[in-house]
Amino acid sequence: MWKLRLARREFLAWSLAGAATAITYGLWPRDSGASPLLRPPGAQDEEDFVSRCLRCQECVRACMTGCLEPAGREFGAGKIWTPRFNPSLAKCEFELCGRACARACPVGAIRRPGDEEVRIGTASVDRKKCIAWNEGKDCLVCYERCSYGAIEPDSRGRPRVKSKRCTGCGACQNTCVTCPDPAIVVYPIKGDRS
Ligand code: SF4
Ligand code: SF4
Ligand code: SF4
Repeated sequence: MWKLRLARREFLAWSLAGAATAITYGLWPRDSGASPLLRPPGAQDEEDFVSRCLRCQECVRACMTGCLEPAGREFGAGKIWTPRFNPSLAKCEFELCGRACARACPVGAIRRPGDEEVRIGTASVDRKKCIAWNEGKDCLVCYERCSYGAIEPDSRGRPRVKSKRCTGCGACQNTCVTCPDPAIVVYPIKGDRS
């Protein structure tokens, strides 16, 4: 596994610089409650990502939709300041922006665009919160907003996620009518990111 060889002093300098710019740009981590920890599109596997990341916030500043933010304390001290994708802020437009976050990252913590398929996570519907499932109401806003054909209504107009098609872009979560407590939420593909 690739290891970032930075002197401790240099790492601390980057971290302090990241903290200073985060304060300057109003990026101080917020408590996101129970929201899952998602990473920018193309991020390395979690352990590798966390070990490479300098907490510099270059990816957060480069993001064109404003969907990235520094992780807060709720994910553990070792992950504070690392960038997270929060669909409640905005959807991720990785196909339109050309992965600006990856291009901005100085250490390859986010892989540069290539031929690989990008998947940030997979959406899941909480049937107790969804008004189509729980109250039998017409809705399907999530279905209308999904650009990947990853949501299919059943015969009673209730959304079902086709996980193989879902990229985790977050458009459904961002626009669910039950926001700010969305009935559809993107979860990491790997279980170690929650
Ligand atoms: S992922 Fe890269 S650009 Fe983003 S904070 Fe970490 S080192 Fe900086
Ligand atoms: S996360 Fe994106 S691709 Fe997945 S179901 Fe929601 S809108 Fe569709
Ligand atoms: S937008 Fe939200 S409440 Fe409406 S059908 Fe989709 S998941 Fe259910």
